[in-house]
Amino acid sequence: MDYYGRQLTRLIEALGLLPGVGQKSAQRIAFHLINQPEEQVKELADAIVDARKNVRYCKECCTLTDEEICPICKSPARDHRTIMVVESTRDLAAYEKTGKYEGVYHVLHGAISPMLGIGPNDIRLKELIKRLEGDVQEVIIATNNSLEGETTAMYISKLIKPTGIKVSRIASGVPVGGDLEYIDEVTLLRALNGRTEL
Ligand code: ZN
Repeated sequence: MDYYGRQLTRLIEALGLLPGVGQKSAQRIAFHLINQPEEQVKELADAIVDARKNVRYCKECCTLTDEEICPICKSPARDHRTIMVVESTRDLAAYEKTGKYEGVYHVLHGAISPMLGIGPNDIRLKELIKRLEGDVQEVIIATNNSLEGETTAMYISKLIKPTGIKVSRIASGVPVGGDLEYIDEVTLLRALNGRTEL
């Protein structure tokens, strides 16, 4: 790819490393960027660097935030005794968009997958167990309806059961393998309201 020159090649290669961006898209984005006003490109670059620098895990629920404790965990209006366990911050955002869930969350950042070699210690499970020492009434497991999501749900419910805390699983109205963030709000609410105790 030397015919593009060193700088442009470097940019295309860097963009090509992004998820879902193939070689062709990387080239298209690179050409788009170098035709933009310098200010606009700098704004994008700064946004990337600032987010990388300042975004961290909430000390309470492990979601991505730029504060020590995220706004949901900080809010006195939320029911802190109900914890919904999700796989990612994007799943949290999907439930928040419904505006109907009043509890708090716990974000695992992944799911258990023996096939991919991802075990319980590779996700934020210890942090969840630690939270259960507090005043918790119900844990709603809203991991994805995939093999990994189900494995994780089963694992968590087995861990929590002996504590006597109520454990429930969102209803399986959510399509198998479907990432939660792509599911519409009505389906999400139905899944939440139709949850069953494990
Ligand atoms: Zn939080």
